[in-house]
This record gives sequence, C-alpha cells and structure tokens, in this order.
Amino acid sequence: MVRDDSCIFCRISAGAAPCAKVHEDADTLTFLDIFPVAPGHTLIITKEHFTDIFAATPAALEAVARRASATALAIRAAMHPEGLGVFQLNGAAAGQTVFHYHMHLIPRRDGEAFVLHGRERADDEQLAILATRVAAALET
Ligand code: 5GP
Ligand code: ZN
Repeated sequence: MVRDDSCIFCRISAGAAPCAKVHEDADTLTFLDIFPVAPGHTLIITKEHFTDIFAATPAALEAVARRASATALAIRAAMHPEGLGVFQLNGAAAGQTVFHYHMHLIPRRDGEAFVLHGRERADDEQLAILATRVAAALET
C-alpha cells in the first residue's frame, strides 16, 4: 500500500497521528474533521495515499462510496440535520487543501451559509464525544 509520510491523512491512517475515529475497514478510515463546518462534519479517506480522484483507483473510490451510504445514515440518526452536504475536492483550484483523496459529509441546517471549510479548530473532547455518537449510530 502506498503511503506518504509527509501526508497528514497517511499519518492518521497509519495510527501515527490521532483522530476522532468513527469507523475503519481494510480500505477506508472515517473520522471527524478538526475544523468542522458543523458538528458531525465527517471525512472518509482511502487508507492508501491517492492525491485525488484522478490518481485514485476505481476500487478505492468504490470503497469510499460504499462507506458514504452507511455513514450518511449514521450522521442523520445521530445528529438529526435537516440536510447533508456530501462533497469532494480535487486540486487547489477546487479548494482541496489536503492532497489525499477524501470525501466530506457535512450536516446542514436550514438557512446556514454554504461554506466548505470551518474556521475554528474543534475541541478534541467534543470531537471524541461526537465520533462515539456517530459510530454508535452505525451499529444500529
Ligand atoms: P479539503 O479542503 O482537502 O477537501 O479538506 C481537508 C479537510 O481536512 C479540511 O476540512 C480540514 O479541516 C481537515 N483537516 C486538515 N488536517 C486535519 C487533521 O489533522 N485532522 C483532521 N481530523 N482533519 C484535518
Ligand atoms: Zn496520504
């Protein structure tokens, strides 16, 4: 499996950096964003290092998409948002800031401004509580 030690998501996926983990399988890791746009803002990443959709294999994209289904249902059950934004950025011109393939799932409420990135670093304890809540909803 290709990894890049200078990549923060590779370090998280290897267990060398912490995250508020929601789920893990052989091909993907799901955890909460540390600069959330909204509580419960979740990322699904490939375990293998692919820069973006252009580099990722169809199998890797499929693995992330498969997790998107279960994760979306769990976020809805745990957070009760009015909507859920699912998006995925490729290249700096598209707003990508971490160059390791990932998908965002963002709980949305009526009337909220549409933003792609949060400005405030979340509290780690709060992230851990929310990750546990979403993970528990995955199992129901
Ligand atoms: P992008 O802009 O590449 O689509 O999104 C990257 C996301 O990763 C951003 O929303 C950013 O807040 C998040 N992020 C960056 N570094 C870390 C980190 O170390 N841990 C976690 N959990 N999220 C991160
Ligand atoms: Zn990486």
